[in-house]
Amino acid sequence: MNAVPLPRPPRRPIVELPDELVSQIAAGEVVERPASVVRELVDNALDAGATQVTVRLLAGGVRSIVVEDDGAGIPGSDLPLALKRHATSKIQSLADLESVATMGFRGEALAAIASVSDLSISSRTIDADHALRLDARSGELSPAARATGTSVEVRELFFSTPARRKFLKTDATELAHCVEAVRRHALVRHDVGFAVWHEGKLAEQWRAASPEQRLRDVLGEEFVAQSRTLEMQHGPLRLRGRAGSPESARARADQQYVYVNGRFVRDRLIGHGVRSAYEDVLHGSRQPSYVLFIDIAPDRVDVNVHPTKIEVRFRDSREVHQAVRHAVESALAQSRSALAEAATAAPDLPSSAGGTSPGSLGTGWRPALPSAAQVSLALQQASTLYAREPSPPWAVAPAAAGSLLRQAPDGPHGQVANAPTGPAGNPAQAAPFSQGLAAPLPASTAAEAPVWPLGRAIAQLAGVYILAENAQGLVIVDMHAAHERIVYERLKATLGDAALEAQPLLIPVTFAATPSEVATAEAQRDTLMALGLDVAPLSTGTLAVRSRPAALPHADLADLARSVLADLAQVDSSRVVQRARDDLLATMACHGAVRANRRLTLDEMNALLRDMETTERADQCNHGRPTWRQVTMKELDGLFLRGR
Ligand code: ADP
Ligand code: MG
Repeated sequence: MNAVPLPRPPRRPIVELPDELVSQIAAGEVVERPASVVRELVDNALDAGATQVTVRLLAGGVRSIVVEDDGAGIPGSDLPLALKRHATSKIQSLADLESVATMGFRGEALAAIASVSDLSISSRTIDADHALRLDARSGELSPAARATGTSVEVRELFFSTPARRKFLKTDATELAHCVEAVRRHALVRHDVGFAVWHEGKLAEQWRAASPEQRLRDVLGEEFVAQSRTLEMQHGPLRLRGRAGSPESARARADQQYVYVNGRFVRDRLIGHGVRSAYEDVLHGSRQPSYVLFIDIAPDRVDVNVHPTKIEVRFRDSREVHQAVRHAVESALAQSRSALAEAATAAPDLPSSAGGTSPGSLGTGWRPALPSAAQVSLALQQASTLYAREPSPPWAVAPAAAGSLLRQAPDGPHGQVANAPTGPAGNPAQAAPFSQGLAAPLPASTAAEAPVWPLGRAIAQLAGVYILAENAQGLVIVDMHAAHERIVYERLKATLGDAALEAQPLLIPVTFAATPSEVATAEAQRDTLMALGLDVAPLSTGTLAVRSRPAALPHADLADLARSVLADLAQVDSSRVVQRARDDLLATMACHGAVRANRRLTLDEMNALLRDMETTERADQCNHGRPTWRQVTMKELDGLFLRGR
């Protein structure tokens, strides 16, 4: 290689930058597009105690943005200061900075915006006899007319920096971003009214409302209907919000709202915590919807790490990650049927009912006795649950999964079991038309029978689906998917945190490894062993796998080792062990679950339904697909054009 040396750049003297240029550089960080201006101005309005904030836009905010509020206003003498860099009324000392509860405190937003636009402020305090208007460019102060509060007008954004103006998208896109900026405020400040006008037309409006109502207004009935309440105190953290059901997950991550102490943030750590709570129930590429409000003592979080304060830094990030995962997990663990039951039977069921999920074992995972025997026993018991032969299914059940199972009562379903040729049917059912259909529930037993959210099995369809009747109408269950989930949850619960048995290999499997894989294998040896994986360096660039998890005789070991190592390098080890083990159990569950085309008796079907009702996360199979659907009477009536 004979590279030609580059000519040295000429040495230039060091000079202090003019104020205007400094602000323009700052604007590069703070003001990316009209929506950034909207966000900063609404921040200021809220800090001023506004109860109504109105945003008026022209051309998606590029031509003009006006934000009006009814807050405290700015005294005339302070007006010129508001536009100066590093001028703020919100903090005065470092101590203030550490307990800051306002949205702004850097004192740079107005200065930055003014440096890349044509800006004016009109403001009036409660004791002033008229408003004053300050033009940023000319510095001119003049009397103006308005009620108490402040209006900031920003015209021709980036007019002086055409290069940046070119990066703006269509007006419609910029408008959408502006509305989103207001929406983020609206979700958390339910007590404030917001309105967005575009080209003289009302684009969005949210009136002051209760927190629940605001959520409905901003994210829609559908989100509320398809999400579960989340509420948890975790050490010094308080978490509230809603987690969308896995089924309502979206292709895009456009419904994920996280707030720390009332401030909207984008935080990878929190995002990861949420994501890992969905891991078990969501298809890889789908994006869950959620709203998460995290309250934490101000001295445990640094909000001053990013110019727009959209990122924060936590003093104890692991604590936050765990709390988030935990809170979302327990919200998701309440299955739909449990919720339905809670709604009908016990209206004030504590929301923490699903709180003890086997996925939340904490960090103390100890490699224990080899437990292949335990695995296979649990598997065997689980998969024979719905075998037709010997005793009624619930006689086997308690041995298999203990607390997860509820004793099925000797309900009416015992009498109506009717294999097509069986003798148990209602003798009055003579017509061939009714063959294979269960007799209606006798009125007398209806009162005694418990209300089963998933209803009473009436038939099996095509060897794949179970049909059941409940109060709302028809329930359709994908029996393999449902059973797979039950077996999986049961395996997790039964095994607790026992280690997986390792099976030594006669001939080690070797594979080429990167330096970081080798380092991880060495550092996390215990963790790997606990998974039944004995992975050790053979040479600088090669790893050897000397044992496999006994429960997985057919896995591609190099593949398995690589993905476990990749996980171990990223996330904390307890979580990886948990997840890798869950993956193994999921594979086993799939093999253990009842196959399609197996005929089930009504008893077996009912037992499966009852198990679903008491199994956490029973609404989705391990791959995130739904396990059951409700078809309401209304929908059925609709099919037959009936009753309207
Ligand atoms: P910061 O919000 O970080 O203090 P800004 O540049 O956004 O910095 O605002 C500077 C100052 O101007 C604020 O500290 C506040 O005193 C005043 N101010 C800005 N907007 C408003 C408003 N809408 N109502 C009342 N005061 C405001
Ligand atoms: Mg501000």
